[in-house]
Amino acid sequence: LDSNTMTIFYLHQKSFLPVKSLSQKEKKRILVTGGAGFVGSHLVDRLMLMGHEVIVLDNFFTGRKNNVSHWMNHPNFELIRHDVVDPFLIEVDQIYHLACPASPPHYQYNPIKTVKTSVMGTINMLGLAKRVKARFLLTSTSEVYGDPEEHPQAETYWGHVNPIGPRACYDEGKRVAETLTYSYMHQDDVDVRVARIFNTFGPRMNENDGRVVSNFIMQALKGEDLTIYGDGSQTRSFQYVHDLVDGLILLMNKDYTEPINLGNPDEYTIREFAELIRNEVNCSCNIKTLPAPTDDPKKRKPDITRAEQILGWKPRWPVKQGIGETVKYFQIQMEADLL
Ligand code: NAD
Ligand code: UDP
Repeated sequence: LDSNTMTIFYLHQKSFLPVKSLSQKEKKRILVTGGAGFVGSHLVDRLMLMGHEVIVLDNFFTGRKNNVSHWMNHPNFELIRHDVVDPFLIEVDQIYHLACPASPPHYQYNPIKTVKTSVMGTINMLGLAKRVKARFLLTSTSEVYGDPEEHPQAETYWGHVNPIGPRACYDEGKRVAETLTYSYMHQDDVDVRVARIFNTFGPRMNENDGRVVSNFIMQALKGEDLTIYGDGSQTRSFQYVHDLVDGLILLMNKDYTEPINLGNPDEYTIREFAELIRNEVNCSCNIKTLPAPTDDPKKRKPDITRAEQILGWKPRWPVKQGIGETVKYFQIQMEADLL
């Protein structure tokens, strides 16, 4: 293409959302692994709007280009197809390490790969952080507490995980990722942050990823039965993705290295949650019961005292409001025949 044609092509592209203009000193180069996934893409949006330079590494196992396509060709943005199991070298100031499948059907699909992603992927990203002196944030999980005997779960709780069950590839993978993170901190002075994330939902969740929020909403929108696994008395506490992104960015930029829980303590039994979704979607669907998965944690609720005290953070989005936004997202996707 000649340069005139290229200019015309460029001018006819859709415009970008306006990003903040930062001085060279304020502007950071930020790597987001797993940035084409559900949480990662929201984090990328926020970092881009804040005016930073953002590089996404993703192998598109559960993420998709569409989640970040609105930033494609922006001068501050780069998307690289890469598997974090293989080393990667780049000069950056901060690394948000999210790459890892997060829903039980996806992380159990290839458990060996899940362990490799958590262990080798985290070693590679910590090695990179050490080499280029970047600050490193691990997105760990409430799953490190397993099927907890302490309720709610505070960061001081060591957890109750079955090391050989079907969830172990993810739970133990993340526990080792935490161990690696603190080993690199103690041994090699890497500057680290660890977020223990509790169940999070919102637009851009993968509609097929098998998590309870996307399952119930899709089932309700299609008028199908809502599938409760087990008797529905197990509990979860759900946070809206924008609250999580606030917490991750606050944590990255705070001088605090211990793990911090990020979650909404608003706790529901899965049966109550099914009712909530039925009401929000306004469907007359039935509820059907399926067998409980092995090692399904019976209760989960974050103690967020540490996040409140250290970060001045607490969730701002009521669950119902977040569910409303998420239902709208799936409706629009269905109407556009994208699902
Ligand atoms: P997701 O599956 O939507 O995103 C994960 C992203 O990582 C995807 O884009 C996927 O393609 C990418 N990925 C997976 N393996 C990779 C590899 N080997 N190399 C490169 N990229 C790879 O899940 P999510 O909900 O956005 O979760 C993001 C992070 O947050 C994960 O680390 C997860 O463990 C953590 N987390 C999420 C939740 C939640 O409720 N969403 C709760 C606790 C922890
Ligand atoms: N669950 C359910 N029906 C579904 C999907 C999940 O009852 O269609 C239950 C699941 O057994 C668990 C809870 O909902 O008790 C949360 O499951 P999810 O996979 O969303 O997250 P996690 O178990 O990792 O917290």
